[in-house]
Amino acid sequence: MTAVRKGIQESVLPRNIMPRSAEEALQLGATYIGGGTDIMPLLKHRVRNDGNLVFLKDVSDLKGIREEDGFLSLGAGETLSDIENNALIREKWPAVAEAASVTASPQIRNIGTVGGNVMQDRRCIYFNQGVLWRSNFGLCFKTGGTLCMQIPNSKVCRAIYYSDMATALLVYDAEAEYLEEGVLHRVPLQELIGRHIRANGLACSKHLPVLIRRFFVPEAPGDERSAFYKYSMRSTIDFPLINFAVRCGTDARPAKLIAGAVSVEPVELNETAEKWNEGAVTDDALQAVCEAELKKKALLIKEALIGPNNKREMFRLVRMLFPLRHPD
Ligand SMILES: Cc1cc2nc3c(=O)[nH]c(=O)nc-3n(C[C@H](O)[C@H](O)[C@H](O)COP(=O)(O)OP(=O)(O)OC[C@H]3O[C@@H](n4cnc5c(N)ncnc54)[C@H](O)[C@@H]3O)c2cc1C
Repeated sequence: MTAVRKGIQESVLPRNIMPRSAEEALQLGATYIGGGTDIMPLLKHRVRNDGNLVFLKDVSDLKGIREEDGFLSLGAGETLSDIENNALIREKWPAVAEAASVTASPQIRNIGTVGGNVMQDRRCIYFNQGVLWRSNFGLCFKTGGTLCMQIPNSKVCRAIYYSDMATALLVYDAEAEYLEEGVLHRVPLQELIGRHIRANGLACSKHLPVLIRRFFVPEAPGDERSAFYKYSMRSTIDFPLINFAVRCGTDARPAKLIAGAVSVEPVELNETAEKWNEGAVTDDALQAVCEAELKKKALLIKEALIGPNNKREMFRLVRMLFPLRHPD
């Protein structure tokens, strides 16, 4: 702790607040810590200066992976390792297990939670830097200013949302159950992510004051095939350069395709999904539709390892999911 103490202000040092129930955590308010793998580097770099950190590790209502009334009920405090290794999830919601298995590194997966993954900060090369480096520039949207360093005439923050788990959960129409100001809500996950994204593009101290308890993922039709694909520079640790999740259409529900790490939030590729549903279309034609749709919908910026032009080349990686169209 001494080394950390030198780097950050006393006021942001974690206070050992460890509630045992969601209600108790809610009363304590402030900033929640799942595994801390996303937020701790931001506190250390003084990009965020939240005080009163509330550790969720012992909150029992945030735990558990079970089937409940036709849904997977997934505790927000479950670690990515537990999700990756859960037999039920692997069998019925394979894209969720696959996404968990390739997020970050094994060490991070052992403590990082699915709640923290979905609520992770959006990232940008001008924001995820130490305080000295950033002192050369003015304040951007995320640090309380009114400027996007990437796209100076942009009216909003263009930092990218890199969550691997969100892409996978959204492809199955997941819902989120959360507490906000003492009231329990259950909404489509897409809606909660939308609110998080908007709040997260403003000063970080204005983060969304919600405590996610569980995710509910509807049971997939028995004959539905689904999968997740991620491309990153170093597969053992890096954030995605792009990710995709797909469910193939069945009589019970149509195909759905989500792309992540290409914009401020996950992008639903509904034109591509419609073509996917048609079945008769060739792989080449489907890939062309997907690339054209992503060119319209992606909001690209300069990233640590890649610029927008090279990133556009990665749109074609959707093809890695096409074997699902030809199971035989
Ligand atoms: C080297 C490195 C590589 C990484 N690679 C990836 C990657 O490939 N893919 C990827 O998606 N992520 C990656 N991450 C980001 C992060 O580690 C993971 O997203 C992880 O799952 C975050 O979970 P956590 O519990 O540690 O989050 P925390 O850091 O604890 O929390 C993150 C945010 O979520 C909020 N939060 C946490 N739990 C809740 C809750 N129950 N309700 C409401 N808010 C909550 C916190 O307040 C905080 O704002 C990487 C991080 C590092 C350091």
